[in-house]
Amino acid sequence: MSDAGRPFLPFALPEIGEEEIAEVVDSLKSGWVTTGPKARRFEQDFVAFLGDLSLHAVAVNSATAGLHLALEAVGIGAGDEVITTTHTFTATAEVVRYLGADVTLVDIDPATLNIDPAAVEAAITPRTKAVIPVHYAGLAADMAAIGDIARRHGLAVVEDAAHALPTIHGGRLVGTLDSAATVFSFYANKTITTGEGGMLVTRDAALARRAQVMRLHGMSRDAFDRFRADRPSWYYEIVAPGFKYNLTDIAAALGLHQLKKARAFQARRAAIADAYDAAFAGLPVITPPRPAEADLHAWHLYVLRLADDAPIGRDALIERLFAAGIGCSVHYIPLHLQPYWRDRYALTPAMFPHSQHAYERMLSLPIYTRMTDGDVARVVDAVSASLR
Ligand SMILES: *Cc1c(COP(=O)(O)O)cnc(C)c1O
Repeated sequence: MSDAGRPFLPFALPEIGEEEIAEVVDSLKSGWVTTGPKARRFEQDFVAFLGDLSLHAVAVNSATAGLHLALEAVGIGAGDEVITTTHTFTATAEVVRYLGADVTLVDIDPATLNIDPAAVEAAITPRTKAVIPVHYAGLAADMAAIGDIARRHGLAVVEDAAHALPTIHGGRLVGTLDSAATVFSFYANKTITTGEGGMLVTRDAALARRAQVMRLHGMSRDAFDRFRADRPSWYYEIVAPGFKYNLTDIAAALGLHQLKKARAFQARRAAIADAYDAAFAGLPVITPPRPAEADLHAWHLYVLRLADDAPIGRDALIERLFAAGIGCSVHYIPLHLQPYWRDRYALTPAMFPHSQHAYERMLSLPIYTRMTDGDVARVVDAVSASLR
C-alpha cells in the first residue's frame, strides 16, 4: 500500500513565516546574536501573553534547562525526592538526577493520561520535596488536587508545561496557576518554536532572580547589563557555579513572532483534533480526552488509543500508516520501561498499570498548522482503512 506520487507527510513540522525570518536576519545584522534585547523583549511579551503582570519570565535555551533551574531554585538537592509521572519524556525526570535527588515515578489517570493525584499522595515520604505535573499532550493536569496535596505536605510544584502553550485550566492560562514555577518548551516540534528554547515563569521574584543568575554561570549580572552603551561596566561577581542556559537573540527573534501566532496555531490544531474526533467516532479507538467546558487544550499531541477489539495492534497500525506515507510517533515509551529508570529504581510494568496499558495501545497522529485539509483527510482515510 504505497501512496503513489504523494510526498511523505511528516509527523511534525514547524511553521516559520517571513516575519520570523526577517527578525532573525535583523539580529544577525545588528551584532546582538546571543542574549540581548530580543531575549528580554521575548520575556516581556511572554508575560503580556499570559496576561498577569505579577509574573516573571526567564528565557532559557531549553525546557530541560528551565526545569533544572526551577528545581535548583526551590532548593532540591541530594537526599530529596521529587514525584513525577512515568508517562513523560525523560527530560522531566532527568533534571532531578542532575541535582542528586531521587525521582519517584507514579502512574497516570487512565481517562486523561495525566499524573494521578491519588498516586502522588500515596508516594509521598518524609524526603519528598516537590512534584512535577506534566500537562500531557496539552491538556492540563488536575492542578486543584495537586495543589491541595502540595499545600498539605509542604511540597513545591514545578509544572512541566512543555506541551501547554496555550492551555487554559479552570479559566486560567497555564503559567498563571499557583505553582512555584512553570516551564514551557520551544523545541522544534512544540506548539511554538525557537528551534531550541524554553521559558521559566514564576510569581516568586527571588526564584526568578536565582534562575536568572544560574542560567548564566552564576554571574551576578548578565551580558546585556554589562555591555549596554549607556552603562559601561566590566565588573561582575560569581556567586555560584551556574550553568550555560541563556536563550540567544537569534532564537528569541523566532519566539517574538511565534508567540504572536500562538492562539491562531492553537485554533488550527483544535480544528484538526475536531476533524479527527468526528472521523474516528465509529472506529474501535479511544479518542483523546476533552478539556472541561471553557478550558483550552493546546493540542500539542493527538494521542489515539486502540480499543481492545481493534482488528490490528498499535505497531501494525503505525506500519500501515508509514506505508501510506504518514509519519506517526508514540508519546511516550514510559520511563518505567527505559533501562536507566527501570534499573535504578527496580521498576516493573505492574507498578504502572494505566501507563503500561495506554502505552501498548497508543499512537500520536500528525497535528500541526502546516497540514492542509487534504493532509488531514489522508490521515483519516488511512486510519479508517486500517481499522475497518
Ligand atoms: C519536549 C519536552 C521537554 C523538554 O523540552 P526541551 O525544550 O527540548 O528541553 C520536557 N518535557 C516534556 C513533557 C516534553 O515534551
